[in-house]
Amino acid sequence: MDVPLICYDCGATATLAAGARCDCGEPYWVATDSECFAWPEGGKRSLWRYRDLLPDVDPTGLAAGAGGTPFVRAPRLDGDVGARVHVKFEGSNPTGTFKDRGSAVGVAAAADAGYGTVGTVSHGNMARSMAAHAASAGLDCLVLVPADVPAERLALLARYDPTILRVEGDYGGLYDESLRVGREQRIAFVNSDTPLRVAGQKTTALEIAEGFAPEPPDAVVLPVSSGGHGSAVWKAFRELRDAGLATELPRLYFVQTAACAPIADAWERGDRTVTPIEGGETVAYSIANADPPSGNRVLAAARATGGGVLAVDDEAILDARRTLSADAGLFVESASATALAGARRLAEGDALEGDSDVVLIATGTGFTERDVDAPAVDAARVELGALDDAVSERMG
Ligand SMILES: *Cc1c(COP(=O)(O)O)cnc(C)c1O
Ligand SMILES: [Zn+2]
Repeated sequence: MDVPLICYDCGATATLAAGARCDCGEPYWVATDSECFAWPEGGKRSLWRYRDLLPDVDPTGLAAGAGGTPFVRAPRLDGDVGARVHVKFEGSNPTGTFKDRGSAVGVAAAADAGYGTVGTVSHGNMARSMAAHAASAGLDCLVLVPADVPAERLALLARYDPTILRVEGDYGGLYDESLRVGREQRIAFVNSDTPLRVAGQKTTALEIAEGFAPEPPDAVVLPVSSGGHGSAVWKAFRELRDAGLATELPRLYFVQTAACAPIADAWERGDRTVTPIEGGETVAYSIANADPPSGNRVLAAARATGGGVLAVDDEAILDARRTLSADAGLFVESASATALAGARRLAEGDALEGDSDVVLIATGTGFTERDVDAPAVDAARVELGALDDAVSERMG
């Protein structure tokens, strides 16, 4: 199977065998002909519902269960955001994040093409997702992590039994190096914004749009790091526009953590290209990419849809994380809570109106996150014999 690719920026075309990047330096994505696409009738809830817009691959095992995540109203957040709030809860994927959508398509395509090994460059959610999907498909998985990765990260990842290599040196440079080694040694690398990953991950937005059909919501707010998912969301709405299923694209707002916000910095300056930075420590460690490979594409998406890119600090992120649990029942990773923190910031300006629908993408579950700094919980003690009084005193 060879998949046709196109550069969003200069329009050059290629196929997957040629690599993931255009000569102009920008990432390719899969060329999709969506003009004849219509929403499927009935059928199961999974990303394979949108097969007509996906590369022609056969999912086996875990891949069949990716996507089809809950899409819920969160009325108690309306006041925070100044609009009707809806949340797409990606924590319900097999390994707890939207990364499963990209891994499902990437690993299935590799299996179909006869690869024995898949690989990725990640020490967090994407690594676990790739290892899980490879395990289920019966492929070997090579995960390249930085040499100083925390032990508890490795322990979670090792459960899926991939081959892990701790790489010394510039972790940013590893992205390109991994693709080269993969081509030379026949390992299908599915990195943060490679074409098959973006193809799978665009289904987050297809599910959102189908939930809103006939017209998409007014705005979508999501965390961004490499820019792979953000690019995918943009691509999905473009395809729906080509299919006549969206007159207008939603405004796309991308949120970064202030400690590492190269895309938001570029947006602030009015630049069309992202300059790599030295990132700092943040609670939202899953979105701390200091040299995002799809950063320019995210800037283009924000410009084209009338949205924006913004940064929020750790205090705002942790406060949003608390609110998402206490007021929406959603236990999310810190990185995911940036979506609400970002929407709150937008509400301070005039970006969102009361009579509009705003979708927050909660990208991942918080159950994989060790909460080392959690304060002790002060719950009252009561004798069994005094239960009646204790309950009526507190709940009456
Ligand atoms: C990977 C990840 C992101 C960022 O996605 P990119 O495609 O790298 O921009 C956001 N949230 C969570 C939970 C993630 O795992
Ligand atoms: Zn190009």
